Amino acid sequence: MIWNLGSINADNFYLLPHLPGPGETISARNFRQGLGGKGANMSVAAARAGTRVMHVGALGADGGWALERLLEYGVETAHITLMEGVTGHANIAVDLEGENNIVIFPGTNHEITDEMIGAALSEASSGDWLLMQNETNGQRFAARTAKTLGLRLAYAAAPFDADAVTAILEQIDLLVLNEVEAAQLRAATGGELRQLPIDDIVVTLGAGGCEWVSNKAHLVESFPAYQVDAVDTTGAGDTFTGYLLAGLDRGMTMPQAIDLAMRAGALMVTRHGTADVIPDLKEIRDHDFR
Ligand code: ADP
Repeated sequence: MIWNLGSINADNFYLLPHLPGPGETISARNFRQGLGGKGANMSVAAARAGTRVMHVGALGADGGWALERLLEYGVETAHITLMEGVTGHANIAVDLEGENNIVIFPGTNHEITDEMIGAALSEASSGDWLLMQNETNGQRFAARTAKTLGLRLAYAAAPFDADAVTAILEQIDLLVLNEVEAAQLRAATGGELRQLPIDDIVVTLGAGGCEWVSNKAHLVESFPAYQVDAVDTTGAGDTFTGYLLAGLDRGMTMPQAIDLAMRAGALMVTRHGTADVIPDLKEIRDHDFR
């Protein structure tokens, strides 16, 4: 089972004739509210991959719809706390050419208490996974608690913050990074990924596939991506990570889980949207990958 200490955001999409300049007011032509946040995306991906996932997080009083949507998508929500305050959100302005600008407010994603995390993880079993990204508070406490309880820790270092990742480096079993984050981590630690005290590191490379650095087996292996016609790469990394961990949780080997995650990531980039359009296992099985 996966315990995901993760962000939940409302993605507010505004379609505009052009992006506003300083002082300009523009009326949007269309509005759509989607479920997003790296945490929620990964929970939905793991659930659609057919594994049990308990999301640990927080929503404001305005976030009841997000809770219902997560439930509908098969995510367990008993440890999502509804509290005073504003649900995390991203206001995404998109112009007719597809260019965008984005304002993010973390809101209740940064109001998670150690008590909430402790109460959730006290129900976990040794051998379960704790998954985290860098869009909530409470990561250090959660990492320490997870290790005390015998959980495995997976971390997606996004958005990248050198202090956040180095503070829990010793506790991480599986680290997932994209190409940019991997370069930032190398710069921050002054070395090679092979020298880090982490068993497995997976670096995603977009249309270039991914690379697995196994410090346990002392090997580095490259996996080419499945070829698709990409229309929107939003959420590809989150989908990949959710599927990767679900595969491992269900007993797959790392190469098997990577293959599944790459199929999910490839299918995801053929669609517009985030959590709401993450493919399920059946769609992946039915798709004719070239
Ligand atoms: P992020 O969104 O975190 O930057 P990536 O862009 O590296 O993550 O994408 C994650 C994974 O999704 C890749 O490793 C790959 O398997 C798949 N993927 C992403 N973009 C494409 C693409 N254009 N074609 C095929 N697969 C893709």
